[in-house]
Parts: sequence; C-alpha cells; structure tokens
Amino acid sequence: MIKKEFKAESKRLLEMMINSIYTQKEIFLRELISNASDAIDKIYYKALTDEQLVFNKDDYYIRITADKENRTLTIADTGIGMTQEDLENNLGIIAKSGSLAFKNENEAKDGHNIIGQFGVGFYSAFMVADQVTVISKALGSDQAYRWESEGTDGYTIEPCEKDAVGTEITLKIKENTEDDRYDEYLEEYRLRSIIKKYSDFIRYPIKMEVTGH
Ligand code: ADP
Ligand code: MG
Repeated sequence: MIKKEFKAESKRLLEMMINSIYTQKEIFLRELISNASDAIDKIYYKALTDEQLVFNKDDYYIRITADKENRTLTIADTGIGMTQEDLENNLGIIAKSGSLAFKNENEAKDGHNIIGQFGVGFYSAFMVADQVTVISKALGSDQAYRWESEGTDGYTIEPCEKDAVGTEITLKIKENTEDDRYDEYLEEYRLRSIIKKYSDFIRYPIKMEVTGH
C-alpha cells in the first residue's frame, strides 16, 4: 500500500484544522452531514433523468453511530459514493482553492471566526479526530475503496468490502486534553443538540445509534 502526500494547499488547511484553537469544533458534524446530504441529492437528481434509477425515499438516509468503547463516530450515507479517483481527487486535494484563498484573505480581518461562516468541508473532521477513515462505493461500481489518513503526513487508498452504494466516514475521536473535552462528541445528547443547531433543515432522515458508556 502506497502512502500519498497531500498537495501543499491541502496540507496547510489540514494543519489549520489539526491545530485548531477554534472553539466551535462542533461544526465538523455540520460539514459531514452536509456532504452526506449532497451525496444523496446527487442520486436524487440523477434519478429524475435516469429511467433505470428509481429514487425510493425510504432507502436514503444518514446514520450517525457513536461507539464509546472504541471512541469512534461514524457518519454514513446512502448517497452516490466515490470511486477510487473521486477519493483521490475530492479528499486528496482542496477542490476549491479559490475559497481557501478567500478564507486566508479574510482571516486577518476576522480572526478564526471565519471557520464558522464558510464551509470548511471534509477536513474539519481533523479538528476532533486523529484518524479519519472513508469507506465508499460509488453508484455503478462493483468495488469499494478505503481512504485513510492520520493527518498531514498523507493518506492511503486501498480496495475493501462494502455491500451497499454510499459512504461511511469514521472518526477516531481525540483523547481529552486539559483544554478540550472530545468525549462529548460520543454523547447522544450532545450530538443531538449539534444536529438540531446546524442540520435541522436537512431533508433526509438522520438516524442515530450510540453504544457503550
Ligand atoms: P464541498 O462540500 O464544499 O465540495 P468538502 O471538503 O466538504 O467540500 O468535500 C469535498 C468533496 O468530497 C465533495 O465535493 C464531494 O465530491 C466529496 N465528498 C465528501 N463527502 C462525501 C460523501 N459523503 N459522499 C460523496 N462524496 C463526498
Ligand atoms: Mg462540504
């Protein structure tokens, strides 16, 4: 398995996320839920024009699973999924370097508040996790792939098993520090309140399961 390096811009944003002193780390969940919702939207719109594809409302949802024993939080969706190339292109680099430049320009004026105002996207997961694993199977593909990263030193991609089309993102939640309580991102009441605060408008069901104590 080959470890690949992030592009320079991505590395910078990643570093920003990993070392974030930002107080609203909770927004990582908004970002991951919004990506999950976008991925389901993509199937929905495809089904409008593709006769082969039927959009059965009940089949499309987002599932949040917290496992306290293993300190993992998983955000799964039944959306369009990603091919190996998609994983490489969408998670390996910052697609919208324009918005990153905009962010940097405004950072000086507005301090770190900027993170809350603009979607920082997928990498915000690294504010609360020291390892992120993405397992995905794209619509129309037989093979699933696992993308994994522990931060700035790069990521790996390898084939893996996954039955259904969609994406599963698992965060290995950081250990508590003196300043930051990461445990709370494994607590049902806390997750519910974050979802209520930022993702109330999402038009697909968000299911939740919490195990361990
Ligand atoms: P943005 O959502 O603004 O494009 P993100 O950093 O949040 O930026 O996500 C980058 C890209 O990764 C998305 O545009 C999408 O192509 C892909 N992606 C992320 N999460 C998912 C997911 N759950 N399902 C499918 N594709 C995803
Ligand atoms: Mg996004």
